[in-house]
Amino acid sequence: MGKIRLLTDEVASQVAAGEVVERPASIVKELVENSIDARAKKILVEFARGGTQWIRVVDDGCGMDREDALMSLERHATSKIRSAGDLATVATMGFRGEALPSIASVSRFRLVTRSSESGAGTEIQTTGTKIEAVTESGAPLGTVIEVSGLFFNVPARKKFLRGEETESAHIIHQMHSLALAHPSVAMTLQRDGKRLWQAAATSDLGVRIRDIFGLDFMSRLMPLEPSRENDIEISGFLAKPGEGRLDREQQFVVLNNRVVQCPAVFQALREAYAEALPKGRHPIGVLRVTMDPLAFDCNVHPAKREVRLHRPDLLRQCVYLAARNALEKYAGPATISRPSAPSPLINREYPSQPPRNVFSAQPQMELPVTTQEKEHPAHESLDFRLIGSVGANWILMEGAEGLVMVDARAASERILFESLRKQSSGGGVASQKLLLPSVFELTVKDAVWISENLEALRMVGFVLEPFGGTSFKIESVPACISSKEFRSALLEICESLRSTGLLGSGQPVVDSLIRTVSRLAASNGFQYDATGAERLIRDLLKCELPYACPQGRPTMIQWSYAELDRKFGR
Ligand code: ADP
Ligand code: MG
Repeated sequence: MGKIRLLTDEVASQVAAGEVVERPASIVKELVENSIDARAKKILVEFARGGTQWIRVVDDGCGMDREDALMSLERHATSKIRSAGDLATVATMGFRGEALPSIASVSRFRLVTRSSESGAGTEIQTTGTKIEAVTESGAPLGTVIEVSGLFFNVPARKKFLRGEETESAHIIHQMHSLALAHPSVAMTLQRDGKRLWQAAATSDLGVRIRDIFGLDFMSRLMPLEPSRENDIEISGFLAKPGEGRLDREQQFVVLNNRVVQCPAVFQALREAYAEALPKGRHPIGVLRVTMDPLAFDCNVHPAKREVRLHRPDLLRQCVYLAARNALEKYAGPATISRPSAPSPLINREYPSQPPRNVFSAQPQMELPVTTQEKEHPAHESLDFRLIGSVGANWILMEGAEGLVMVDARAASERILFESLRKQSSGGGVASQKLLLPSVFELTVKDAVWISENLEALRMVGFVLEPFGGTSFKIESVPACISSKEFRSALLEICESLRSTGLLGSGQPVVDSLIRTVSRLAASNGFQYDATGAERLIRDLLKCELPYACPQGRPTMIQWSYAELDRKFGR
């Protein structure tokens, strides 16, 4: 006898529910997306006890007549696509026709709906897959769906639900995503009878962000200049330098009205913020990407959380440039303004490409060119007043709007980093020839690594030659590094670049080397004197990214007068 049997509809729905209904938050997502597809202008979401007790979604969308309401609970019943061909250009949030039957199959479900054509509303109640009652009911235009007793009939799934707090947090996060992706729909979220937030309809993403996350969060973001290249539109708000988190909890990527997880965007943001955030931190913000629906496939994940892009490299490049551009244009804390528009990017190309100029001529004996005095005539007025130094490393100043403290070491690192990068792309970093070339022995691993990276090292001012076995002869070192300390510097450079796993002589390798060289060079200590401090600040403000050191730590912190007043209780 054959062993293969067709699943009953009930079992098939519960299997599908395993994919679509992971937890209460997934129900919220499916129901709210249905409301958005029904062109609702206002959506109310309420839930109790992390959504495990009940979830209610109320919308003022187009509603359904009796026939459609019954049909909506059938598997693969959808009003949104008709053929597989429609999939490529689908503009609605849903299209699989799976959500309602899946949700209903694992809960006690109540649907009340009325369309503008029907005089009376329809109410349907189901338990599991069993329809308990279909009645006529007085109902306003739109749809109400209530889901209670989630997984009452699938105890194995119920066991996987986490505590009330965790499930609530998932719902709240889901609602943040939905609200950010659809600012033009008014939304309200209520938990256990209490309103968590309410966001009015708006065409301005910034207003929506403020409504759900508050003013403080908004003040940590900077707007992106809307851009359009290769048919990819980018806009939104991203973290100011230094505003990151260890996770991506507050980094939202909205691709054509859907919040998605997109590795190409993650990578672009990581690269763009490499010098604006400490390692391991992710910029917060909301990035909006609009592109031709034909350029990606959103039908690769049951909950459509992931997408498959046909050209991930194009998106990566656009996002990188948009973020870099915003970081470079960022005007900094209101107290201190930058003297002039920052110079254009030294290397406008994408960082995975090799730098335009490789080493040409033999490096010269030169003094480090770390300040840009020629560009700053001494009479150029400053819009801040130097107060003095604090501790061993800080400079205190008064600006138009408050008090500013500058980390002198971080500031020197930033200035050196940009100056070295300019030098490396313009023929090579200034280096000093050692009076007596020095030979030294390395461990096998360091030796292998150095011989594979001789060219990159040369570009940042270290000229080395293999000297047999694991020995190398050093002829020149970067001019900014003390010639007494080059040995430990070289070892530290090996170590820190090895830890990044980068190889070759491309821009990321050179940048990483330059980052270490500037850190080492700036660690020589800082002696405060007013002229030196003033020059440091001027040079800093001329940098492309003045507000963070190349390792992503802040170079300055400000306290506005308003903040000081508040602190003193005025
Ligand atoms: P899909 O969204 O993939 O089409 P669903 O199971 O989520 O599948 O919904 C089935 C159908 O029910 C939808 O295509 C839509 O026609 C109808 N529907 C669901 N929710 C609503 C709603 N809130 N307002 C109006 N119609 C709805
Ligand atoms: Mg749907």
